[in-house]
Amino acid sequence: LASLMDVSVTEVISAAMKMGMFVSINQRLDAEAIQMLALDFDFDVQFISAEEEVKVDTIEKEDADSDLLPRAPIVTIMGHVDHGKTSLLDYIRRTKVASGEAGGITQHIGAYSVEINEGPNKGKKIAFLDTPGHEAFTAMRARGAKVTDIVIVVVAADDSVMPQTREAINHAQNAGVPIVFAINKIDKVGANPAKIREDLSKENILVESWGGKYQEQEVSAKKGIGINELLDKVLLEAELLDLKANPNRTSVGTVVEASLDKGRGYVTTVLVQNGTLKVGDVILAGQYFGRVKAMVDATGNRIKQAGPSTPVQVLGLPGAPQAGDRFNVMDTEREARDIANKREQIHREQSIRAKKHITLEEIGRRKAIGAFHQLNVIVKGDVDGSVEALSDSLLKLSTEEVQVAIIHKGVGQISESDVLLASTADAIVIGFQVRPSTNARKIADQEEIEIRLYSIIYDAINEIRDAMEGLLAPKE
Ligand code: GDP
Repeated sequence: LASLMDVSVTEVISAAMKMGMFVSINQRLDAEAIQMLALDFDFDVQFISAEEEVKVDTIEKEDADSDLLPRAPIVTIMGHVDHGKTSLLDYIRRTKVASGEAGGITQHIGAYSVEINEGPNKGKKIAFLDTPGHEAFTAMRARGAKVTDIVIVVVAADDSVMPQTREAINHAQNAGVPIVFAINKIDKVGANPAKIREDLSKENILVESWGGKYQEQEVSAKKGIGINELLDKVLLEAELLDLKANPNRTSVGTVVEASLDKGRGYVTTVLVQNGTLKVGDVILAGQYFGRVKAMVDATGNRIKQAGPSTPVQVLGLPGAPQAGDRFNVMDTEREARDIANKREQIHREQSIRAKKHITLEEIGRRKAIGAFHQLNVIVKGDVDGSVEALSDSLLKLSTEEVQVAIIHKGVGQISESDVLLASTADAIVIGFQVRPSTNARKIADQEEIEIRLYSIIYDAINEIRDAMEGLLAPKE
């Protein structure tokens, strides 16, 4: 804070003291304290989240219209279980993926790209995310990734609109992504596509053949009927969206899948969304960075570069980023390392916080498995005398087996920084004749930090002693 304001640390500390905050140089200040101190030095404070800080937005600048070229649509297939999502994805992959030198054997890498090989759309491409279902779609969206341009909702013609069909429609509509309906299994005896159209109309979805705006296509994923027509309709939808990207810029996109391969190390499937990714580029994804050593497409072919809307496996990252993480190509390794380090730090802090914290009831359990030797306590009280008396008594509860450590004590209400300290040190907070502030309470709930409030010292000591002996009965 001092260096941000370009003043000395001593000045900040003495300003804090004047406000009644006794702080040391390596202490974390809470938001309130920062606000007050900054004001004292005539600064305005703007809080941004840690995630925000390490976004790479400098290189994600807008492209000039003249640099933009059409790009292939990226499609996700959703629908009710057993309605044929996987079959449809498999059929398209088997028949449409340009077979490579490996003899046309395609591997699952999380996404693939097809090229139309006949008809008026010959030569046009479509990229498919090949994790069917809306879980992947929602997980990506939850991470802020906008990948899918068009959703194909599969409905089995021998069934009807089902709960997951509705969910798929809702997800797509919420994301503002257009839908093309695939009415599947029309080869089956008893298939009734008309009933599906009627079902959909009851959901306020009017398909084209009923005069509505939603394109639909009858297909059989098993027999390969209507697949070309379905893909034509997807391309028509794509044309309306006027999808464009600039292939001549540093590349950005999204991680689709990542895994550890025995022979090849970490393998990350990414979908290039803008620019062109090249072998040798410095790539940053989540908290990992490295040079792209090699790239492999879904047919197993090594490729040197991947343009917009191309899914590709990347070798060269030292770890597995999460699906939905954004990737960026950086100018220098140093720049990439800086951001990767910051992200790693955030990740570490978050996982420390996510760990289950100690509670009085937990002590018995941890003792039973021999994993409990020290109880960390923070003591806050209304007057100095009682804080000292309570702390002394608690220290005396130490046995050979379990030590009590007072990691912080003080006079005043339980503050945000008390709770944060408890969180990093895995401590419980004891308040004697004081209460937590609203913020402290909120964070304690979030981080699951136990705060115990007492108004009689004797009660506090008894309860902690019982807990240390594993005698405290769990609360209802
Ligand atoms: P998912 O759960 O939506 O991925 O559905 P699957 O693709 O696993 O298909 C469920 C079942 O329906 C499988 O037994 C498929 O063989 C069958 N199936 C899928 N598409 C068709 C089709 O067009 N016609 C017929 N007759 N069966 C199909």
